[in-house]
Amino acid sequence: MTDLIIKNKKGLYVPQADVYIDPWRPVDKALISHIHADHCRHGNKQYICPDFSKLILKRRLGVQSVSSFPYGQRFSVNGVHFSFHPAGHIPGSAQIRVEHKGEVWVYSGDYKTEDDGLSHAFEPVKCNTFITECTFGLPVYRWMPQQEIIEDIQKWWNANATLNRPSLILAYSLGKAQRLISALGGSEIGPVYCHSATQQMNNAVRKSGFDLLKTKILTEKTKKEKLEKALVIISPSALSEHWKKTLKNASTAMTSGWMTIRGAKRRSAVDMGFAISDHADWDGLHTAIKETGAERIICTHGYQHIFSKWLNENGWKAEEFETEFENESE
Ligand SMILES: [Zn+2]
Repeated sequence: MTDLIIKNKKGLYVPQADVYIDPWRPVDKALISHIHADHCRHGNKQYICPDFSKLILKRRLGVQSVSSFPYGQRFSVNGVHFSFHPAGHIPGSAQIRVEHKGEVWVYSGDYKTEDDGLSHAFEPVKCNTFITECTFGLPVYRWMPQQEIIEDIQKWWNANATLNRPSLILAYSLGKAQRLISALGGSEIGPVYCHSATQQMNNAVRKSGFDLLKTKILTEKTKKEKLEKALVIISPSALSEHWKKTLKNASTAMTSGWMTIRGAKRRSAVDMGFAISDHADWDGLHTAIKETGAERIICTHGYQHIFSKWLNENGWKAEEFETEFENESE
């Protein structure tokens, strides 16, 4: 049996169908798992993604040639059957199932196993071979339940608000930001303001059918007094000198799985670090792998070397793919 998905210079390739999955070089036909920049790049002739990602893809890349399918619906390319299944990573994200002549492979994309209350929850899909990410494939990475982290963030926000001090939270503009808004937005502590890049994504996510609470847009005209009790969400890459100056009395926080590690908070130069991630933790990776029933595991981006070694030593048959996907970034 030949492999259904191989790796070449342009990305993960399905030879029998002549399509690529999340390619890192421009190709004719690209299946897209989710709309983070390392998985959904410019320059492909045709994009195929889940319905819930279509509008977000169009907004992010400014392309029109996008076809989409609902989760679970089978479609065929050159006799190979494909379908998208929820990955629980960010709104609209999917795993990609590939079936040909009775053989089934699933490419996980980025995923997390905890239901965040906004994205469609991760759905295990039975397969022969599972290509899994392993961004946090070390035993030290074990997340607290979302609810507990959200309560910690609320306490921090509340303490700042009583001092009339803005709470500035650094969170990626697609995924993490909406997850926080969804979990925190109903709070009575104060308003939620979002940087324009984040607000654009909020709108795209709402228009895609997700029930996301209203947020206010942060502009250069926003009066400082309005921000005194606010939670302000900015993507790390959008935190310009202007905003640093405007929000200089703010308490700052970073939200990332990397905040688990001592020292990560200091390196990010923030007051608080909240270890909340849109990727599976150590236990989540194991649960996901077990539930697929796969006899062969291929580890991609992250601690793939250590993680595949661990799998091999513990009764699995694991290999690695070197990919050009990045770790918890956008
Ligand atoms: Zn991602």
